[in-house]
Amino acid sequence: MVNSDPAARRALPSVDRLLSNSAVATLVARFGRVLTTDTIRALLQMHRDKLAQNASAFEFDEARFTAECEQSLLRQTQPSLRPVFNLSGTVLHTNLGRAVMPQSVADAVMIAMTRPVNLEFDLDGGARGERDTHVEKWITRLAGGDGAVVVNNNAAAVYLALNTLGGQRGKSEIIVSRGELIEIGGAFRIPDIMKRAGVKLVEVGTTNRTHLKDFAEAISPRTAAIMKVHTSNYAVQGFTAAAPEPELAALAHEHGIPYIVDLGSGMLVNLEDYGLPHEPTPREALANGADLVTFSGDKLLGGPQAGLLVGKKDLIARIRKNPMKRALRVDKMTLAALDALLRLYTNPDKLRDEVTAIRLLTRTQAEIRTQCERVLPHIQSALTGKAEAKVIDTGSQIGSGSLPVDSLPSAGIALTPAGKATRSFADKLSLAFRALPVPVIGHIRDGAFVLDLRCLDRADHEGEFIAQLKQLRLKNSI
Ligand SMILES: *Cc1c(COP(=O)(O)O)cnc(C)c1O
Repeated sequence: MVNSDPAARRALPSVDRLLSNSAVATLVARFGRVLTTDTIRALLQMHRDKLAQNASAFEFDEARFTAECEQSLLRQTQPSLRPVFNLSGTVLHTNLGRAVMPQSVADAVMIAMTRPVNLEFDLDGGARGERDTHVEKWITRLAGGDGAVVVNNNAAAVYLALNTLGGQRGKSEIIVSRGELIEIGGAFRIPDIMKRAGVKLVEVGTTNRTHLKDFAEAISPRTAAIMKVHTSNYAVQGFTAAAPEPELAALAHEHGIPYIVDLGSGMLVNLEDYGLPHEPTPREALANGADLVTFSGDKLLGGPQAGLLVGKKDLIARIRKNPMKRALRVDKMTLAALDALLRLYTNPDKLRDEVTAIRLLTRTQAEIRTQCERVLPHIQSALTGKAEAKVIDTGSQIGSGSLPVDSLPSAGIALTPAGKATRSFADKLSLAFRALPVPVIGHIRDGAFVLDLRCLDRADHEGEFIAQLKQLRLKNSI
């Protein structure tokens, strides 16, 4: 639409004119000429459209335009990956990046990022080295086994293990119990992974009960391995039976085939020592006769995204030779992080202080409740007349499919409507908290918006959380 008022139209300055404005010149210096010019063009176009719609009400204010331009540039250049407060009640939240890592781990990554490192270089011999050696000795020391391989994540570890085992001539069947054909979020399903890895799944037993003889009857000359999958994100309860692991391992070995275990989370220490529910460890699986165990780096272990394979030397050597290892290998940052993290595990007495994930998981309900009482008045004053806030007992989830039926006694702040309840109350509140400079992620339970403070353990983060509450913008309608 063409504007009929030439005087008003002329009221819009040209891009060049705006660029000569000293405030805009500052923006050019900060954000660069290209981005600033593009932004000015886009904003001018918006103003031109407004002008076309209602010329009489239109007024161009250059100072306001410059401020709009700065806001837009700040929005555009804000990093996409931003820190958030995870008050969702799920500690290892896959969508929020799973494990938060200790500063010592971050420092190690920083060195690997900003300086050349001996990633695949043997400093003694001066020859080419193998990147996994940086962590292999720690993994085998902490988990057992004779060798270890590290790949992109546990899904990759399972894939690589299956693909390697299935690559033997004439042997392509893997036997798994029907009760263990898991699906992990994000389309990781054991049957699909098997297909893609080029092996044939042989399911045995029933959903709730599988016996040793089911495995024994399924073994054929084509069997490549017996596999056990830790049912990490669900539990089969009631009338159930599973073949004991040592017997499964013995059966596999009688037939000269490996017994492999996907532990999912996996943990290098006994979590019961930290007052947490037991989670099977790779050491236990190996002691039960497993030839190969796979587990995640960023679940209970509390490190970077990675998949760890640990076990017998010959299997590890075959896995290392698989060309897919090259496609699934980890980078120097992951190795630096894992190396720094695994060193912390060599001193179990200090794990609670030093490994962030363990510290968060072991915070007591009393400690979290005290913190809630301290934070409560700040939330109440930020939401006066809009919401009622009170401290409640909650149960935190470990997350990432670890220990799905166990919840950790925790405490939180529940927000309910001050006036009459509206259906969308909790949704609107959760939107407002997400819109804060450091977005706050809570969860909705029984119509209330709940902030579980288990993961707000650092004093400086608590201060930051409280300080930004005054920026909460709530519509009056809630
Ligand atoms: C989580 C999980 C996986 C996938 O691990 P990622 O590290 O997320 O790739 C595989 N198997 C089991 C049993 C799991 O629990």
